Amino acid sequence: MKNYNLIIFGISAAIVASVSYALMPSESDKERIIEALKTTDPAVSPTTKVLETSNIASAVPENNLRTEHYPVQAGDSLSGIFRKLKLSFTDLYHITHAKPYGRDFAKIIPGKTLEIKTDKDGDLEQLTYPRNILETLVATRSKEGFAVELISKDIDARISSAQGVINSSLYVDGKKAGLPDRLIMQLADIFAWDVDFALNIRPGDQFTVLYKTLYVNDKKVVTGDIIAAEFVNRGKTYTAVLFEDNDGKVNYYTPDGRSMRKAFLRTPVDFARISSRFNLRRKHPVLNKIRAHKGVDYAAKKGTPVKTTGNGVVTFRGHKGGYGRVVIIQHGQHYSTLYAHLSKYKRGLRKGDRVKQGDVIGFVGMSGLATGPHLHYEFRIDGVHRNPLTVKLPHQKPISKYLMAEFKRQTVPLLAQLEQTKKTLLAKNGN
Ligand SMILES: [Zn+2]
Repeated sequence: MKNYNLIIFGISAAIVASVSYALMPSESDKERIIEALKTTDPAVSPTTKVLETSNIASAVPENNLRTEHYPVQAGDSLSGIFRKLKLSFTDLYHITHAKPYGRDFAKIIPGKTLEIKTDKDGDLEQLTYPRNILETLVATRSKEGFAVELISKDIDARISSAQGVINSSLYVDGKKAGLPDRLIMQLADIFAWDVDFALNIRPGDQFTVLYKTLYVNDKKVVTGDIIAAEFVNRGKTYTAVLFEDNDGKVNYYTPDGRSMRKAFLRTPVDFARISSRFNLRRKHPVLNKIRAHKGVDYAAKKGTPVKTTGNGVVTFRGHKGGYGRVVIIQHGQHYSTLYAHLSKYKRGLRKGDRVKQGDVIGFVGMSGLATGPHLHYEFRIDGVHRNPLTVKLPHQKPISKYLMAEFKRQTVPLLAQLEQTKKTLLAKNGN
């Protein structure tokens, strides 16, 4: 562990020297920019000035060309449009076969507008298609037929940072630190398996966040995702870093490559309070006898949704004596969980159904032996009851061995910068 810190520290010094280093925007960054521009700036026209930015000059002077706009309709194909507008099929062939973007012309969709420039004989000179608000395809007549380019606005992802100390809540103090709502939620989601933000954060807890800010042509457009974050909860430090694998799958990991997600959620109900803990020598409130309490009780309003804490298969759904309405879920070979006293089951839930972590399986009630509405939750490993509040929860799949080098390459500089940001901002804020 100590060695690892030393490595990070050594690199952090190097990173600080190059102050502004940006990240490659990912596909999801692009999508977020496109969404943001759609809603905030409908006036941004992708075709504006597109010809001036094209590298290929048309052979015919601009003022001798006729320009036509064709809105793509449902059911339109490029060949259908060429037929309708009496354009040459040889030209069509050259356009769609031009490398590497020509074939993208075949993927036109309704609602976009093609721009068609023809010369005095009606021959196509240039065809323009705004693929999205950031990218435009342009085919221009050349000696060999047509040249096709993809003209793209300049987008980049720059790193922003925020740091704060909890005084009241993650939400209030996150806002104070300048984090937008979406990122506060994302921060809570990232650490949801380790930190109970409703019940367990304390004044003095700290967070440090690095996140992307997305720019188009040097203008800030929208906030991207968190790329690295640290949360100090009651003196214990949790660190997460974003990693995109070869398939473009994005996830948060610990610095040593374990998924931040665990195979189980700690609690199956939101908005609940623990009313009885795991206790092998408890006096039963209804039976008034010593009887082991082999689970945790969560008092909550009748009808509060109950979520399965892990992926698995429903092995039981029905009445079971004092448990009332019960659902039991088997998670792989060794783990099972039990949810009792339900008022009702999730509609359609059957024995044998596959469920995913977080799926609602039923609703809080007081069926069976219960003094008030609550969920009785049990966690078993190989059939043995374990305390759901303290049992060590297994992580989901870690980074595979063959991706480890790439993982380190992407994440070590980010973690170094996170560490540096924390130091700088803590010093600045006088903490
Ligand atoms: Zn109970």
